Amino acid sequence: TPTLTVIGAGMAGSDAAFAAAKLGVKVALYEMRPAKMTPAHRTGSFAELVCSNSFGGEGEANAKGLLQREMLAAGGLVMTSAHATRVPAGGALAVDREAFSARVTEALCEHPNITVHTEELTELPDGVVVVASGPLTSDALAESLRKSVGEDFLGFYDAAAPVIDIDSIDMGIAYRKGRYDQAADYLNLPFTKEQYDAWYDALTRARQHTPHDWEKLEFFEGCMPIEELARRGPDTPRFGPLKPVGLEHPETGERPYAVAQLRQEDARGQMWSLVGFQTGLKWGDQKEVVRLIPGLQNAEVVRYGVMHRNTYLNAPRLLTPHLNLRAHPRLFVAGVLAGTEGYLESSATGWLAGTNAARQLLGLAPVLPPETSMLGGLVRYLASANPDNFQPMNANWSLVPALPKVRGEGKKERRARAFRRGLEAFEGWLQEVTTPPVLS
Ligand code: FAD
Repeated sequence: TPTLTVIGAGMAGSDAAFAAAKLGVKVALYEMRPAKMTPAHRTGSFAELVCSNSFGGEGEANAKGLLQREMLAAGGLVMTSAHATRVPAGGALAVDREAFSARVTEALCEHPNITVHTEELTELPDGVVVVASGPLTSDALAESLRKSVGEDFLGFYDAAAPVIDIDSIDMGIAYRKGRYDQAADYLNLPFTKEQYDAWYDALTRARQHTPHDWEKLEFFEGCMPIEELARRGPDTPRFGPLKPVGLEHPETGERPYAVAQLRQEDARGQMWSLVGFQTGLKWGDQKEVVRLIPGLQNAEVVRYGVMHRNTYLNAPRLLTPHLNLRAHPRLFVAGVLAGTEGYLESSATGWLAGTNAARQLLGLAPVLPPETSMLGGLVRYLASANPDNFQPMNANWSLVPALPKVRGEGKKERRARAFRRGLEAFEGWLQEVTTPPVLS
């Protein structure tokens, strides 16, 4: 019987192992805890929730809600266990963390096709593998991975800037232009002196996340958080990422006092990130600072900037949308390591990587969820995002094709339509691809 190796029994690895085992493949699941702990985990249980106990909002206008429903329809272990152990949390899906992890652990340990090894894997093994060792992958395994993928292995921490949905940018203010004679690939947001002073003032007052004690980050000059840069003086951002030189307004020829730039993040041009704005500010304060940038007064932040320890690959350079490495098709990657952010997103990519790895072992073609589904949108993004400065992504509406606006319809109703469209497509797709187990 073919055997699949899954490394890590966190959010992604648990779903990967379970999905593969259900397809009849034998799984060797390696988890180093409790023999060796990460700096954030506290227990030896599988799928430990390292921080919050929430999988995000439910409901028909919610992007995370759609992904939750997709994973329930697919019979994903994390989602079915979450529903079985949920606690009241307003409009969100939150769980009793101990009962949740105990349920996932039991399901995996009792599955006849799964053998659990409490052991750190220090090298990538032969054969078909799902690597799901997470943001705190052990050093030895990270080194082995780096050797396999080369320079496109990404760092050991995030330095992410906020990403904005294009529909929320004021195009009456933004103008397209590249610096000097560069191609006009950027959206530029011009400041007057008064606007800059107000923005700078808010930036210096904004509160930062308190990093965990083990999260000592040493910043390179090139990815200094914008708030650190601002500490050096009011003009420092204006001579750094907000430099207006060469960005004169194409209509007036005037040079603004400062200019913030947005760079395209996804192939469809729906998501734009603020250039040089990597930040560790608290999300509420971050939103305020972003909305003080001219043209972003109504900005919808689809992913907030973060600065924390994180191990992940440059997915767009390395991965196919089926979640295996282009250069080594037998190696599948899932979870944070594959460039997702969040418990739910990690488990969903785990389910897909486990399914496709099992299919490879069974001699079946890989599968790809429809582009209108949240999982389909997410894995397409991972494989096709802008590889320069790539940062992990969570579920959000910009990942799926926008629906045409209907007169008189609000954003909530339009999202509810996108939700129903995505779920219907995903469920239809599941029926087409669900192969009866070939082996038992
Ligand atoms: P993990 O769930 O971490 O699973 C990886 C597993 O691999 C771990 O069990 C680890 O012990 C094991 N492992 C590592 N190396 C090896 C090896 N060499 N051999 C064998 N096993 C190995 N997301 C949210 O949605 N909400 C939050 O509140 C949240 N808080 C976070 C807080 C912190 C401190 C961190 C670091 C991340 C947080 N995240 C949060 C982000 C992310 O969603 C979670 O980390 C999520 O658990 C990632 O899933 P994963 O499967 O990729 O990794």
